Amino acid sequence: MRRLKRGDRLVVASHNPGKVWEISQLLAPYGLDAVAATDLGLTEPDEPEPTFEGNARHKAMIAAKGSAMPSLADDSGLEVAALNGAPGIYSARWAGPTKDFSVAMQRVHDELGERGVWNGASPRANFISVLCLAWPDGTTQFFEGKVEGQLVWPPRGTNGFGYDPIFIADGQDLTFGEMEPAKKYAISHRTRAFDVFKHACLDAKHD
Ligand code: IMP
Repeated sequence: MRRLKRGDRLVVASHNPGKVWEISQLLAPYGLDAVAATDLGLTEPDEPEPTFEGNARHKAMIAAKGSAMPSLADDSGLEVAALNGAPGIYSARWAGPTKDFSVAMQRVHDELGERGVWNGASPRANFISVLCLAWPDGTTQFFEGKVEGQLVWPPRGTNGFGYDPIFIADGQDLTFGEMEPAKKYAISHRTRAFDVFKHACLDAKHD
């Protein structure tokens, strides 16, 4: 497993400012010089692959080749058990061109309704994040984090983003949309994937 050391430059291969901020925050205590793909003038790649791993690899490799630096990308989504894992890699796309997640949540609700899943039950679901660290020579490493839980309807809370208002993590009473952001980050799929990455690739934290 290849490692990164203090002072190394690392491209955060995302064009989503929220994600870039979150990943930069997670990297900051490790002394890495994180630079966003947008700041290097790299264009935003599409997500052409059928898996989270494939899309994370695609995004990280394009940034690594384009910058000649190691690059970190993430692909994430919501998987609903009764929908055979949908929306999955299509989580962002279910919100349509206007990126309206009330539309995406309504679609999850309606598709579960068509299957009769809401009758007294709380449908099982999980968020998943797959991180890919890619090197300019083509080497890739993957790190995965999941948070399991259940869906509720109607949506609750205005914090967070995406499907947060309809997801309650196991052991919690509040949806991710109702939780304080710090509480969500403490247990989120992205933080869990990042923990695996940290242990495998980064030196000890300096406070
Ligand atoms: P991508 O990883 O940028 O392709 O997009 C992932 C999509 O999954 C987002 O647009 C959200 O719809 C959904 N998603 C991923 N992580 C979360 C989360 O923490 N809360 C709510 N929705 C999420």
